[in-house]
Amino acid sequence: MKSLIINVSEILKIPGVKKKFDFYYELKPVCDAEKLNFIGPVHFNFTIENVDMKLNVKGKVCGKIGLICNRCLTEFERKTEVMLDEVFSSDKNELDEDEVFRIKNEKIDIRFVAEQAFLLSLPMKAICNDECKGLCIKCGKNLNLGPCSCTKKEIDIRLLKLKEFKEKLEKSNN
Ligand SMILES: [Zn+2]
Ligand SMILES: [Zn+2]
Repeated sequence: MKSLIINVSEILKIPGVKKKFDFYYELKPVCDAEKLNFIGPVHFNFTIENVDMKLNVKGKVCGKIGLICNRCLTEFERKTEVMLDEVFSSDKNELDEDEVFRIKNEKIDIRFVAEQAFLLSLPMKAICNDECKGLCIKCGKNLNLGPCSCTKKEIDIRLLKLKEFKEKLEKSNN
């Protein structure tokens, strides 16, 4: 079972039936592919249940997404798990309702719902680590790899000024 287009003809025959799906799939996103950069196969684990001839798809999808840190611009990967809880129907009247997807030729397509769930899970600003120090705004060095010379110079200048100030104080006291 390695397709995201699932033939549900058997499930549609028996009201109340529930079928389990558990598989890995190399997900190459169709929409917003640049945002959803999956690293390795994505784990799909869900059930399809026939409830009054509508299909409830419930479960979870888990994958590793490659992101770029907003602070230090380094690539990192984040394990992301999203929940699926969707209704599919062949009834045209119901399709006008929000959040109801279509059963086409006794098949449902899980790809779109999975991709949308992952897109919604993405942070507005990806940060590799809460402690990320980012890049030096002067020299651009990644400060997670150690301090750059700018900070050292600044401290030197501050110390120098402090020293001058002290000397002035001492002179004026004399
Ligand atoms: Zn970072
Ligand atoms: Zn610097």
